[in-house]
Amino acid sequence: MVEIRKDYLLNRWVIISEKRKFRPKPKDEPKKKKLPKKSKNCPFCPGNEKMCPEPIIEKPNKNWKIRVIGNKYPAVSKEEKFREKFGRLTTKKTGYGSHYLIIDTPKHNSYPANYKKKEWRLWFETIKDVFNEEAADENIQYILAFKNRGPEAGASQPHPHTQIISLPAVPHLINEEMSGADDYYTFNGKCIFCEIIKMESKFKKRVVFENKDVIAFCPYAPLWPFEVWIFPKEHTPSIQMSKSSEDGILKALSKVLKTYYKVLDDPPFNLYMHTAYLRMKDHVPQKYHFHIEINPRLEKDAGFELGAGMNITTISPEEAAKILRKKT
Ligand SMILES: [Zn+2]
Ligand SMILES: [Zn+2]
Ligand SMILES: [Zn+2]
Repeated sequence: MVEIRKDYLLNRWVIISEKRKFRPKPKDEPKKKKLPKKSKNCPFCPGNEKMCPEPIIEKPNKNWKIRVIGNKYPAVSKEEKFREKFGRLTTKKTGYGSHYLIIDTPKHNSYPANYKKKEWRLWFETIKDVFNEEAADENIQYILAFKNRGPEAGASQPHPHTQIISLPAVPHLINEEMSGADDYYTFNGKCIFCEIIKMESKFKKRVVFENKDVIAFCPYAPLWPFEVWIFPKEHTPSIQMSKSSEDGILKALSKVLKTYYKVLDDPPFNLYMHTAYLRMKDHVPQKYHFHIEINPRLEKDAGFELGAGMNITTISPEEAAKILRKKT
């Protein structure tokens, strides 16, 4: 089967071609090297704190379980005052913002698939702390929390970590999602994401995990094989949600990553949180819905993907969900 599918709300098409069926790695490939519990060269390991900038957050104060520092190689910084300049063809802003690095755990060889419930909770609480801090800066318009696992997904350190970047501009993808949500809201008076959740819950074939608070499913037009999106069922535009929604999100996250680990053999992946932009106006709170997107990086972009801006996925989301569901 080959199908060209359009995303629920973006003007983005993907090719689903199962002709080049997704192939799991052959068994005779060498097993990945096991990491040690602690590494003397790792700047994120306990005992090596001096290799990093001063911590911004450390919980608890003694024998930390999670730690937030400024990224040593920041994408943006607040050293310069915020300025912007509008031109007819060229517009710019100061590279203003913060780049945080969260060291998820003191354990060098831990991996997200393995985090305990209380580790996930601490992780989420810490991300919320950073969001609150950055949201108070009126020049900041967007905050993105993301995680890269494995060198193929852009992680430069094997020690488990998460990053948060705050920006004085709204990123392209968020604007695109907002515009799709906006069109839907204008015509139907409803949040498109709430409608997608209902549809996927009823259709079932793309659902990976669901309970009363949360749903995790393989999206209809995925960019990558085994891509999963997680939504709280409660309508919320931001990271602020009820305790039961938070628990649902963290439970789904843990389930999905555990399943990836088993089915896809600890794959490299990127994970990011999508929230509405900070300075909300024009019904934004009603039309945008918090979610997490997870993309395993099993295939590389090549000429076609880059040249056309169109991905070819070698397993349908229905098939991918069936495989993932069996193991959750
Ligand atoms: Zn380490
Ligand atoms: Zn909604
Ligand atoms: Zn999104």
